[in-house]
Amino acid sequence: MSNSEIDWDTEFADDPDYQAMSPQQRKKLLSVMEKMIDMGMAAVYGDEEDEVPDAKVDCAQCLPACQARCCTLIFALTKDEVAHGHIQHNPARPYFIARDEDGYCPHMDRQSFGCTIWEHRPLRCRRYDCRDDSMIWPEGVPVEFGSAFPGLKVSPKQTSEAS
Ligand code: SF4
Ligand code: SF4
Repeated sequence: MSNSEIDWDTEFADDPDYQAMSPQQRKKLLSVMEKMIDMGMAAVYGDEEDEVPDAKVDCAQCLPACQARCCTLIFALTKDEVAHGHIQHNPARPYFIARDEDGYCPHMDRQSFGCTIWEHRPLRCRRYDCRDDSMIWPEGVPVEFGSAFPGLKVSPKQTSEAS
């Protein structure tokens, strides 16, 4: 996932056919696919595995530093999530989650950084654990927030001056 465009390698991380392709084949496939999506001829659904537990992250503790950067990441909603109708998707890129001009999810409360559809939030949001994501923590999780991530041993070297 990235803040500005879809990271197809992540979207297809579990797809053996995609993984077996050469970089050139992937590029060609994605170019055709993106054109089809732009022309309204194709849509992409997210594919989430069954039985994956929710992430155990104490987000409330980290929000002053992370400012819910995970709510700027782009991913596709599952068929069930789209059918349920609680979650906005991008009409120009069906069925990727909607993002507002400021890059954040339209379901995020801009004052509190909280999720306004918590009970109905996507599986991807429920399961996302940001501890190893350099897009969220480029310098690693700051030591003062290490206890928000059970089992994480944070090295003093990972103290972030950017937060
Ligand atoms: S998952 Fe990580 S980036 Fe997202 S709100 Fe929680 S601590 Fe912040
Ligand atoms: S649905 Fe909620 S948790 Fe998921 S990106 Fe939007 S605001 Fe964040």
